[in-house]
Amino acid sequence: MFKDVQNSSNLSAKIILMAEIVLLISSMLFCGVSLYRARLAIRKNIQQRMLDIANCAAGSVDGDVLGALKIDDVGSDEYNDLYRKLAVFRDNVELEYIYSLKQTGEEEFIFTMDLDKYTPASYGDPTEYTDALGLAGDGTAAVDEVPYSDKWGQFYSAYSPVFDSKGNVAGIIVVDFSAEWFDNQLSSQTWSTVTSYLIILLISLLVAAALLLGTVRPFVKMQGQLLEEKVRAESANHAKSDFLANMSHEIRTPINAMLGMNEMILRESRKSQSSDNSDPEEMRRSMKNIIGFADDVENAGQNLLAIINDILDFSKIDSGRMDLVEKPYRVSSMISAIGNMVMLKARDKGLDFIIDADPLLPDELCGDELRVRQVLTNLLNNAVKYTDHGSVTMMLCGRTADDGTFLLEAAIKDTGIGIRQEDLEKLFKRFQRLEMDRNSTVEGTGLGLAITQRLLELMDGNISVESLYGKGSVFTVTIPQKVVSEDIATEEGATVSDTPRAENTQETGTQQIITERESFVAPTARVLAVDDTLTNLTVVTYLLKDTKIAIDTAMSGADAVEMARKTHYDVILMDQRMPGMDGTEAFHKIRSGEGASSDSPVICFTADAVVGARERYLEEGFSDYITKPINGYALEKMLMDHLPEAKIKRVTA
Ligand code: ADP
Repeated sequence: MFKDVQNSSNLSAKIILMAEIVLLISSMLFCGVSLYRARLAIRKNIQQRMLDIANCAAGSVDGDVLGALKIDDVGSDEYNDLYRKLAVFRDNVELEYIYSLKQTGEEEFIFTMDLDKYTPASYGDPTEYTDALGLAGDGTAAVDEVPYSDKWGQFYSAYSPVFDSKGNVAGIIVVDFSAEWFDNQLSSQTWSTVTSYLIILLISLLVAAALLLGTVRPFVKMQGQLLEEKVRAESANHAKSDFLANMSHEIRTPINAMLGMNEMILRESRKSQSSDNSDPEEMRRSMKNIIGFADDVENAGQNLLAIINDILDFSKIDSGRMDLVEKPYRVSSMISAIGNMVMLKARDKGLDFIIDADPLLPDELCGDELRVRQVLTNLLNNAVKYTDHGSVTMMLCGRTADDGTFLLEAAIKDTGIGIRQEDLEKLFKRFQRLEMDRNSTVEGTGLGLAITQRLLELMDGNISVESLYGKGSVFTVTIPQKVVSEDIATEEGATVSDTPRAENTQETGTQQIITERESFVAPTARVLAVDDTLTNLTVVTYLLKDTKIAIDTAMSGADAVEMARKTHYDVILMDQRMPGMDGTEAFHKIRSGEGASSDSPVICFTADAVVGARERYLEEGFSDYITKPINGYALEKMLMDHLPEAKIKRVTA
């Protein structure tokens, strides 16, 4: 569809070119027709001039005298008088000869007088017959339409009849014009007309082109832009509908699981509550069921969160606002964290999971570990998702490129369903899921590979795929990283089983890494949690129960301000969207007042996880930012950063 958009800018140029061609052709046709008509008119004009001279000459002679002329009259006074009158016309620069004729029979005419000074015809000499002469013999002045030849040359002649007093044709005055003169007249006048037409054509083309450029082009351009906008809007609408349909399905699935499982927990709990609790075996079974259901709720919640994080990540990358945070990290920790997570999923599906890391891989690299992990995790999760039997293997190695850059290479290989050759190119398109009939039971949004590819682009890395349909696939990624320490990752290469347990948590649509679970108790600390939703306050209170922190709660901004005025809190957790006074207003009131907690760290605690939210709240002055749903370990880690050190007693779980 966007090809149309690209073409639409050419469309205006094409329309203008077409209009210009049509204009040119029509102008040329118009000029051609006009020239033909002009040439006819020029010819008539020349003939009229010839006829005017012949008529004038004929008008100057007496018809009775001319008609009465005999061969014996040559040289008589009448003859000479006539001769002198016609001689006036003989000296006209345009004509060649002037003479008088007399009809002696059907198409027969003889000379009665010839005014040629050098080789005049004699009285009685026959003359060439032409159609125009025939007309003049019948009393109608006429001009030759085609040239004729005689012993004096090639001519066009004009014939004018002279009538006697009885109205009979007494003779014909003929003026000869050379054919050369006639053709010259015709062509020179035609050329001057052609030149004028060409000038007019040129000027009109220039004017038309200027008008087209000035008036039509902006109009056509505007049309093109409108078309472009229309296509874009339609396409965006289409993508949005696809997206919503997809998301609705993907989000409903875990919600359905959560609500369903929660219902089971409630039923099971009510059942145990109402029973007389006398059968410990029954109680144990019931508790086991409840724990199983709660685990399912946890899983579904994590899935839901992963989907929302994918969407946020994708929109962040799409809007060009995903920044890389490069810092040193340990490759072995990263491998073990990923390995532990994927191993559980692979084990659940009965798959072998193998990590084959090059023992010589440097252990300390510098780069955006979070994004490297995200890329590898996405590919590994897909490998597990789309494999029912066999194994998933991650091979890791490193090499130095020609320009000296260190390249981390990972190949994720599976023995799964594979991808058809013709589907390979669709693989990285957003929301693109392949073979939906076959994969309808596999959860996914079609965003994972699109995010993976864009993240790799951001890191100057690349990805390639090889796949055998029905046999399995290999996704290979190359990511440039800087080497911090040449120490190798592990002596024998990383394996899954001998790595520490890693916790996985979520933050602003991305994953926040906690490689070691560190905890603390702070029995002397006091925290205020503010939220208008009681469940959220309950969750925070429970999540922090083990830390022994004293937790007060407030269900509105105004209550929070009042409590913070009276009591000193070591940290305040402030929800944002609350009716009446919102979190930001409450925060400013606490800071600007003289209350007991006016200097306490205030952490923004919100479900607003869209691109730029974190930066906005930090700019507002909040000490930190954490998104809902809250992960207990992430919250504990954040509190460790903000509670007074003296009140914290660290414990390692
Ligand atoms: P999804 O959320 O659907 O997994 P992805 O963008 O991660 O979205 O993948 C897009 C599609 O590519 C998947 O729907 C699946 O059809 C196909 N795919 C991805 N990885 C594999 C794999 N390892 N084996 C087979 N098919 C795969």
